[in-house]
Amino acid sequence: MKHEGSSDEMMTDEKWQAIISNDAAYNHQFFYAVKTTGIFCKPSCKSRIPKKENVRIFQNAEEALSAHFRPCKRCKPTNERLPDNDWVALITAYIDKNYSDKLTLETLAEMSHGSPYHLHRTFKRISGITPVVYIQQIRINTAKNLLLQNDVPIADIGKAVGIPNIPYFITLFKKMIGHTPAQYRQFHNKSEGLNK
Ligand SMILES: [Zn+2]
Repeated sequence: MKHEGSSDEMMTDEKWQAIISNDAAYNHQFFYAVKTTGIFCKPSCKSRIPKKENVRIFQNAEEALSAHFRPCKRCKPTNERLPDNDWVALITAYIDKNYSDKLTLETLAEMSHGSPYHLHRTFKRISGITPVVYIQQIRINTAKNLLLQNDVPIADIGKAVGIPNIPYFITLFKKMIGHTPAQYRQFHNKSEGLNK
C-alpha cells in the first residue's frame, strides 16, 4: 500500500532486524507503527513481533502521532505515559472492528501492550463494564440485528458475531435478552405481521 504525501520512512532489512531483535541501539533512529493495532513503538519494544506488511516506519514520534497512531503503553515512545482513557479507547475501537474474531483478555492485552489484569481493571474503571462484557454486548447486539434478516440461519449468526459454539450462543443470548434467538426472531416477525 502506498502512502502518498505521508512522511513514512522506508522499511529496510536493517530496520526490520532491529525490530525483531528488540535492538535498543536503534531507539533514537526510528519508530515503528502497526496498522492493525494503531500503536507505535520503539525498536526495542518487547511486544509481539508484528507482521512485516502491517508495519509503518516513522522517523520520530511526532510523525507517528500525526498519522493517528498512539504510543505504546509498554515502551513509551513519547517518553510519556499513555492516558488510560486513550488506551481504553484504542481497545474499544479494536473490539468494535474485530468482535467476530476470537477475542480473549490475553489477546487484547497482547494487542494493546499491557497485562491482562491491568487491562481488565482499567477498562472496567473507565467503561463501567469489563472488556469481556463489552465484547458480549457488541456481539449480542449485532446478533439481534442479524436475526431481523429472516433468511440468515441462527448458526451462521453465531459464527458471524464471534460465537461459533451455537449452544453457548443461544444460552448467552437468552441470558442477555430474555429470549432465545429463535424466539426473538419469531416475536419480531409476529409484530411485523400485525403491523402490515
Ligand atoms: Zn512498545
